[in-house]
Amino acid sequence: MTPPDSAVLVWFRRDLRVHDHAALYHALRTSSRVFCVFVFDREILDGLPGTAPRHDRRVEFIHKSLIELDDALKAHGGGLIVLHDYARCAIPRLAEELGVTSVFTNHDYEPQGIARDVYVSQALSNNGRELRTFKDQVIFEKREILTAAGTVFGVFTPYKNAWLKALEPGHVAPYAVEPMMHKLARADPKSTLPSLASIGFAPVESGSSVIPAGISGANQLFDDFKQRLSKYHDARNFPGIKGPSYLSVHLRFGTISIRVLARHAHERMRQRGDQGASTWLSELIWRDFYMMILANHPHVVTRAYKPEFDAITWDDAPNLFQAWRSARTGYPLIDAAMRQLNQTGYMHNRLRMVVASFLTKDLGIDWRLGEKYFAERLIDFDLSANNGGWQWAASTGCDAQPWFRIFNPVTQSEKFDPEGKFIRRYMPELANLATPQIHAPWEADPKVLQQAGVILGESYPTPIVEHAEARVRALARYGAIRKIRDA
Ligand code: FAD
Repeated sequence: MTPPDSAVLVWFRRDLRVHDHAALYHALRTSSRVFCVFVFDREILDGLPGTAPRHDRRVEFIHKSLIELDDALKAHGGGLIVLHDYARCAIPRLAEELGVTSVFTNHDYEPQGIARDVYVSQALSNNGRELRTFKDQVIFEKREILTAAGTVFGVFTPYKNAWLKALEPGHVAPYAVEPMMHKLARADPKSTLPSLASIGFAPVESGSSVIPAGISGANQLFDDFKQRLSKYHDARNFPGIKGPSYLSVHLRFGTISIRVLARHAHERMRQRGDQGASTWLSELIWRDFYMMILANHPHVVTRAYKPEFDAITWDDAPNLFQAWRSARTGYPLIDAAMRQLNQTGYMHNRLRMVVASFLTKDLGIDWRLGEKYFAERLIDFDLSANNGGWQWAASTGCDAQPWFRIFNPVTQSEKFDPEGKFIRRYMPELANLATPQIHAPWEADPKVLQQAGVILGESYPTPIVEHAEARVRALARYGAIRKIRDA
């Protein structure tokens, strides 16, 4: 028990907001003096690729979001202590310096984060302090939603049904933080937000401001999306139009509360029978699902969810991998998608599925290589969703795409970018091709290519693999596993 007059510390991590915040709420209820801290954790930052000054959209996004968080805390007489250090050591040290009795923070479900929290908890308790943690970034966590037999779900639809059945107003009710904000303690002016440069980073030049940062950026996106929510079901699969919410990075860093979003979607679904809201809520449930999978099956970080798929022999094909990464596969939709990722740090969900399928099934490359590349590039990178998405596409995951289903990159292009609008946006070298040819330029008449200024093999590559042949190879690769398993 924390004595009511003692100070406590709130450690912000993936929850960079002041409203509807579980750890902040419990800290304010417990104590009359609440300090707030964020650590640019060198254990994470020092492992990012590149040399100083590094360019990383996530770090830039966090930095901008911390300015707003600090302002919001200051508006109530508090402020944010910001450290650039190893969180494992910095948090117990700061707790000592401030003389707090407890540190409050929200649950982390990633194995590395869990290990760090165990370490911090132990270090604090060695000095008579406590680490108190709360559920905040999901609606249901860990083993809260179980099958009738009391086991963890491995299939999404029954999980979703159980999730919806279990949902009560209390699960999405906001934590009323505002009336207690006068208890915030002022931060030491010496430990306020460092510049990006002083922590070894520089702004990303191109496309970095596509998604607005901070609490204000999240609200702006959500306000805009609410007007489009009813159309979500029909629009979400078409990368050429503004279909999804673009809120993933905000959910990743908690500049918006999952409860706010789930409550809104659930109310609209129930009151208006809104199909768009219902489909979007399903996506938010997928997010909970993959966090639950990661929390209960941490082996997925390095291995297939279904162990039999660890026996797959992947190709060692550095040239093909390089072509995929650098948007030079010769398949316009794949290349446009990879340019979207490389230029903006975001990729549309349909395209994430298509490029992941292409890498694993058409190119025969290990899903872990694609997963790692996404982890380095995605502004919304989230271990659970990224791993879940890659294992889905590679057919190695829970409730995954069946191994014999292989996306055809041309028909996916014709179906989901029918007018080539998305391709033209990212592939100016193909922009003059008419609609049927833009999906498969190698099939176009040489005269048509010439008129459009496309020289295959020069201004744009010929396909690096032939899809029909690649498909046969993929079926053999996966089929071999089945034979081993069935033998
Ligand atoms: P919306 O369509 O508006 O969806 C709303 C929210 O629901 C998203 O912000 C996200 O939090 C959640 N969501 C939607 N789809 C999924 C899903 N399939 N799994 C889990 N949560 C979902 N999402 C990430 O947040 N981080 C990742 O690193 C990530 N990597 C992916 C890798 C692959 C190979 C695949 C196939 C999917 C991945 N996703 C990832 C899921 C999905 O593509 C993104 O969440 C979505 O594109 C983000 O855009 P949005 O916010 O506009 O989504």
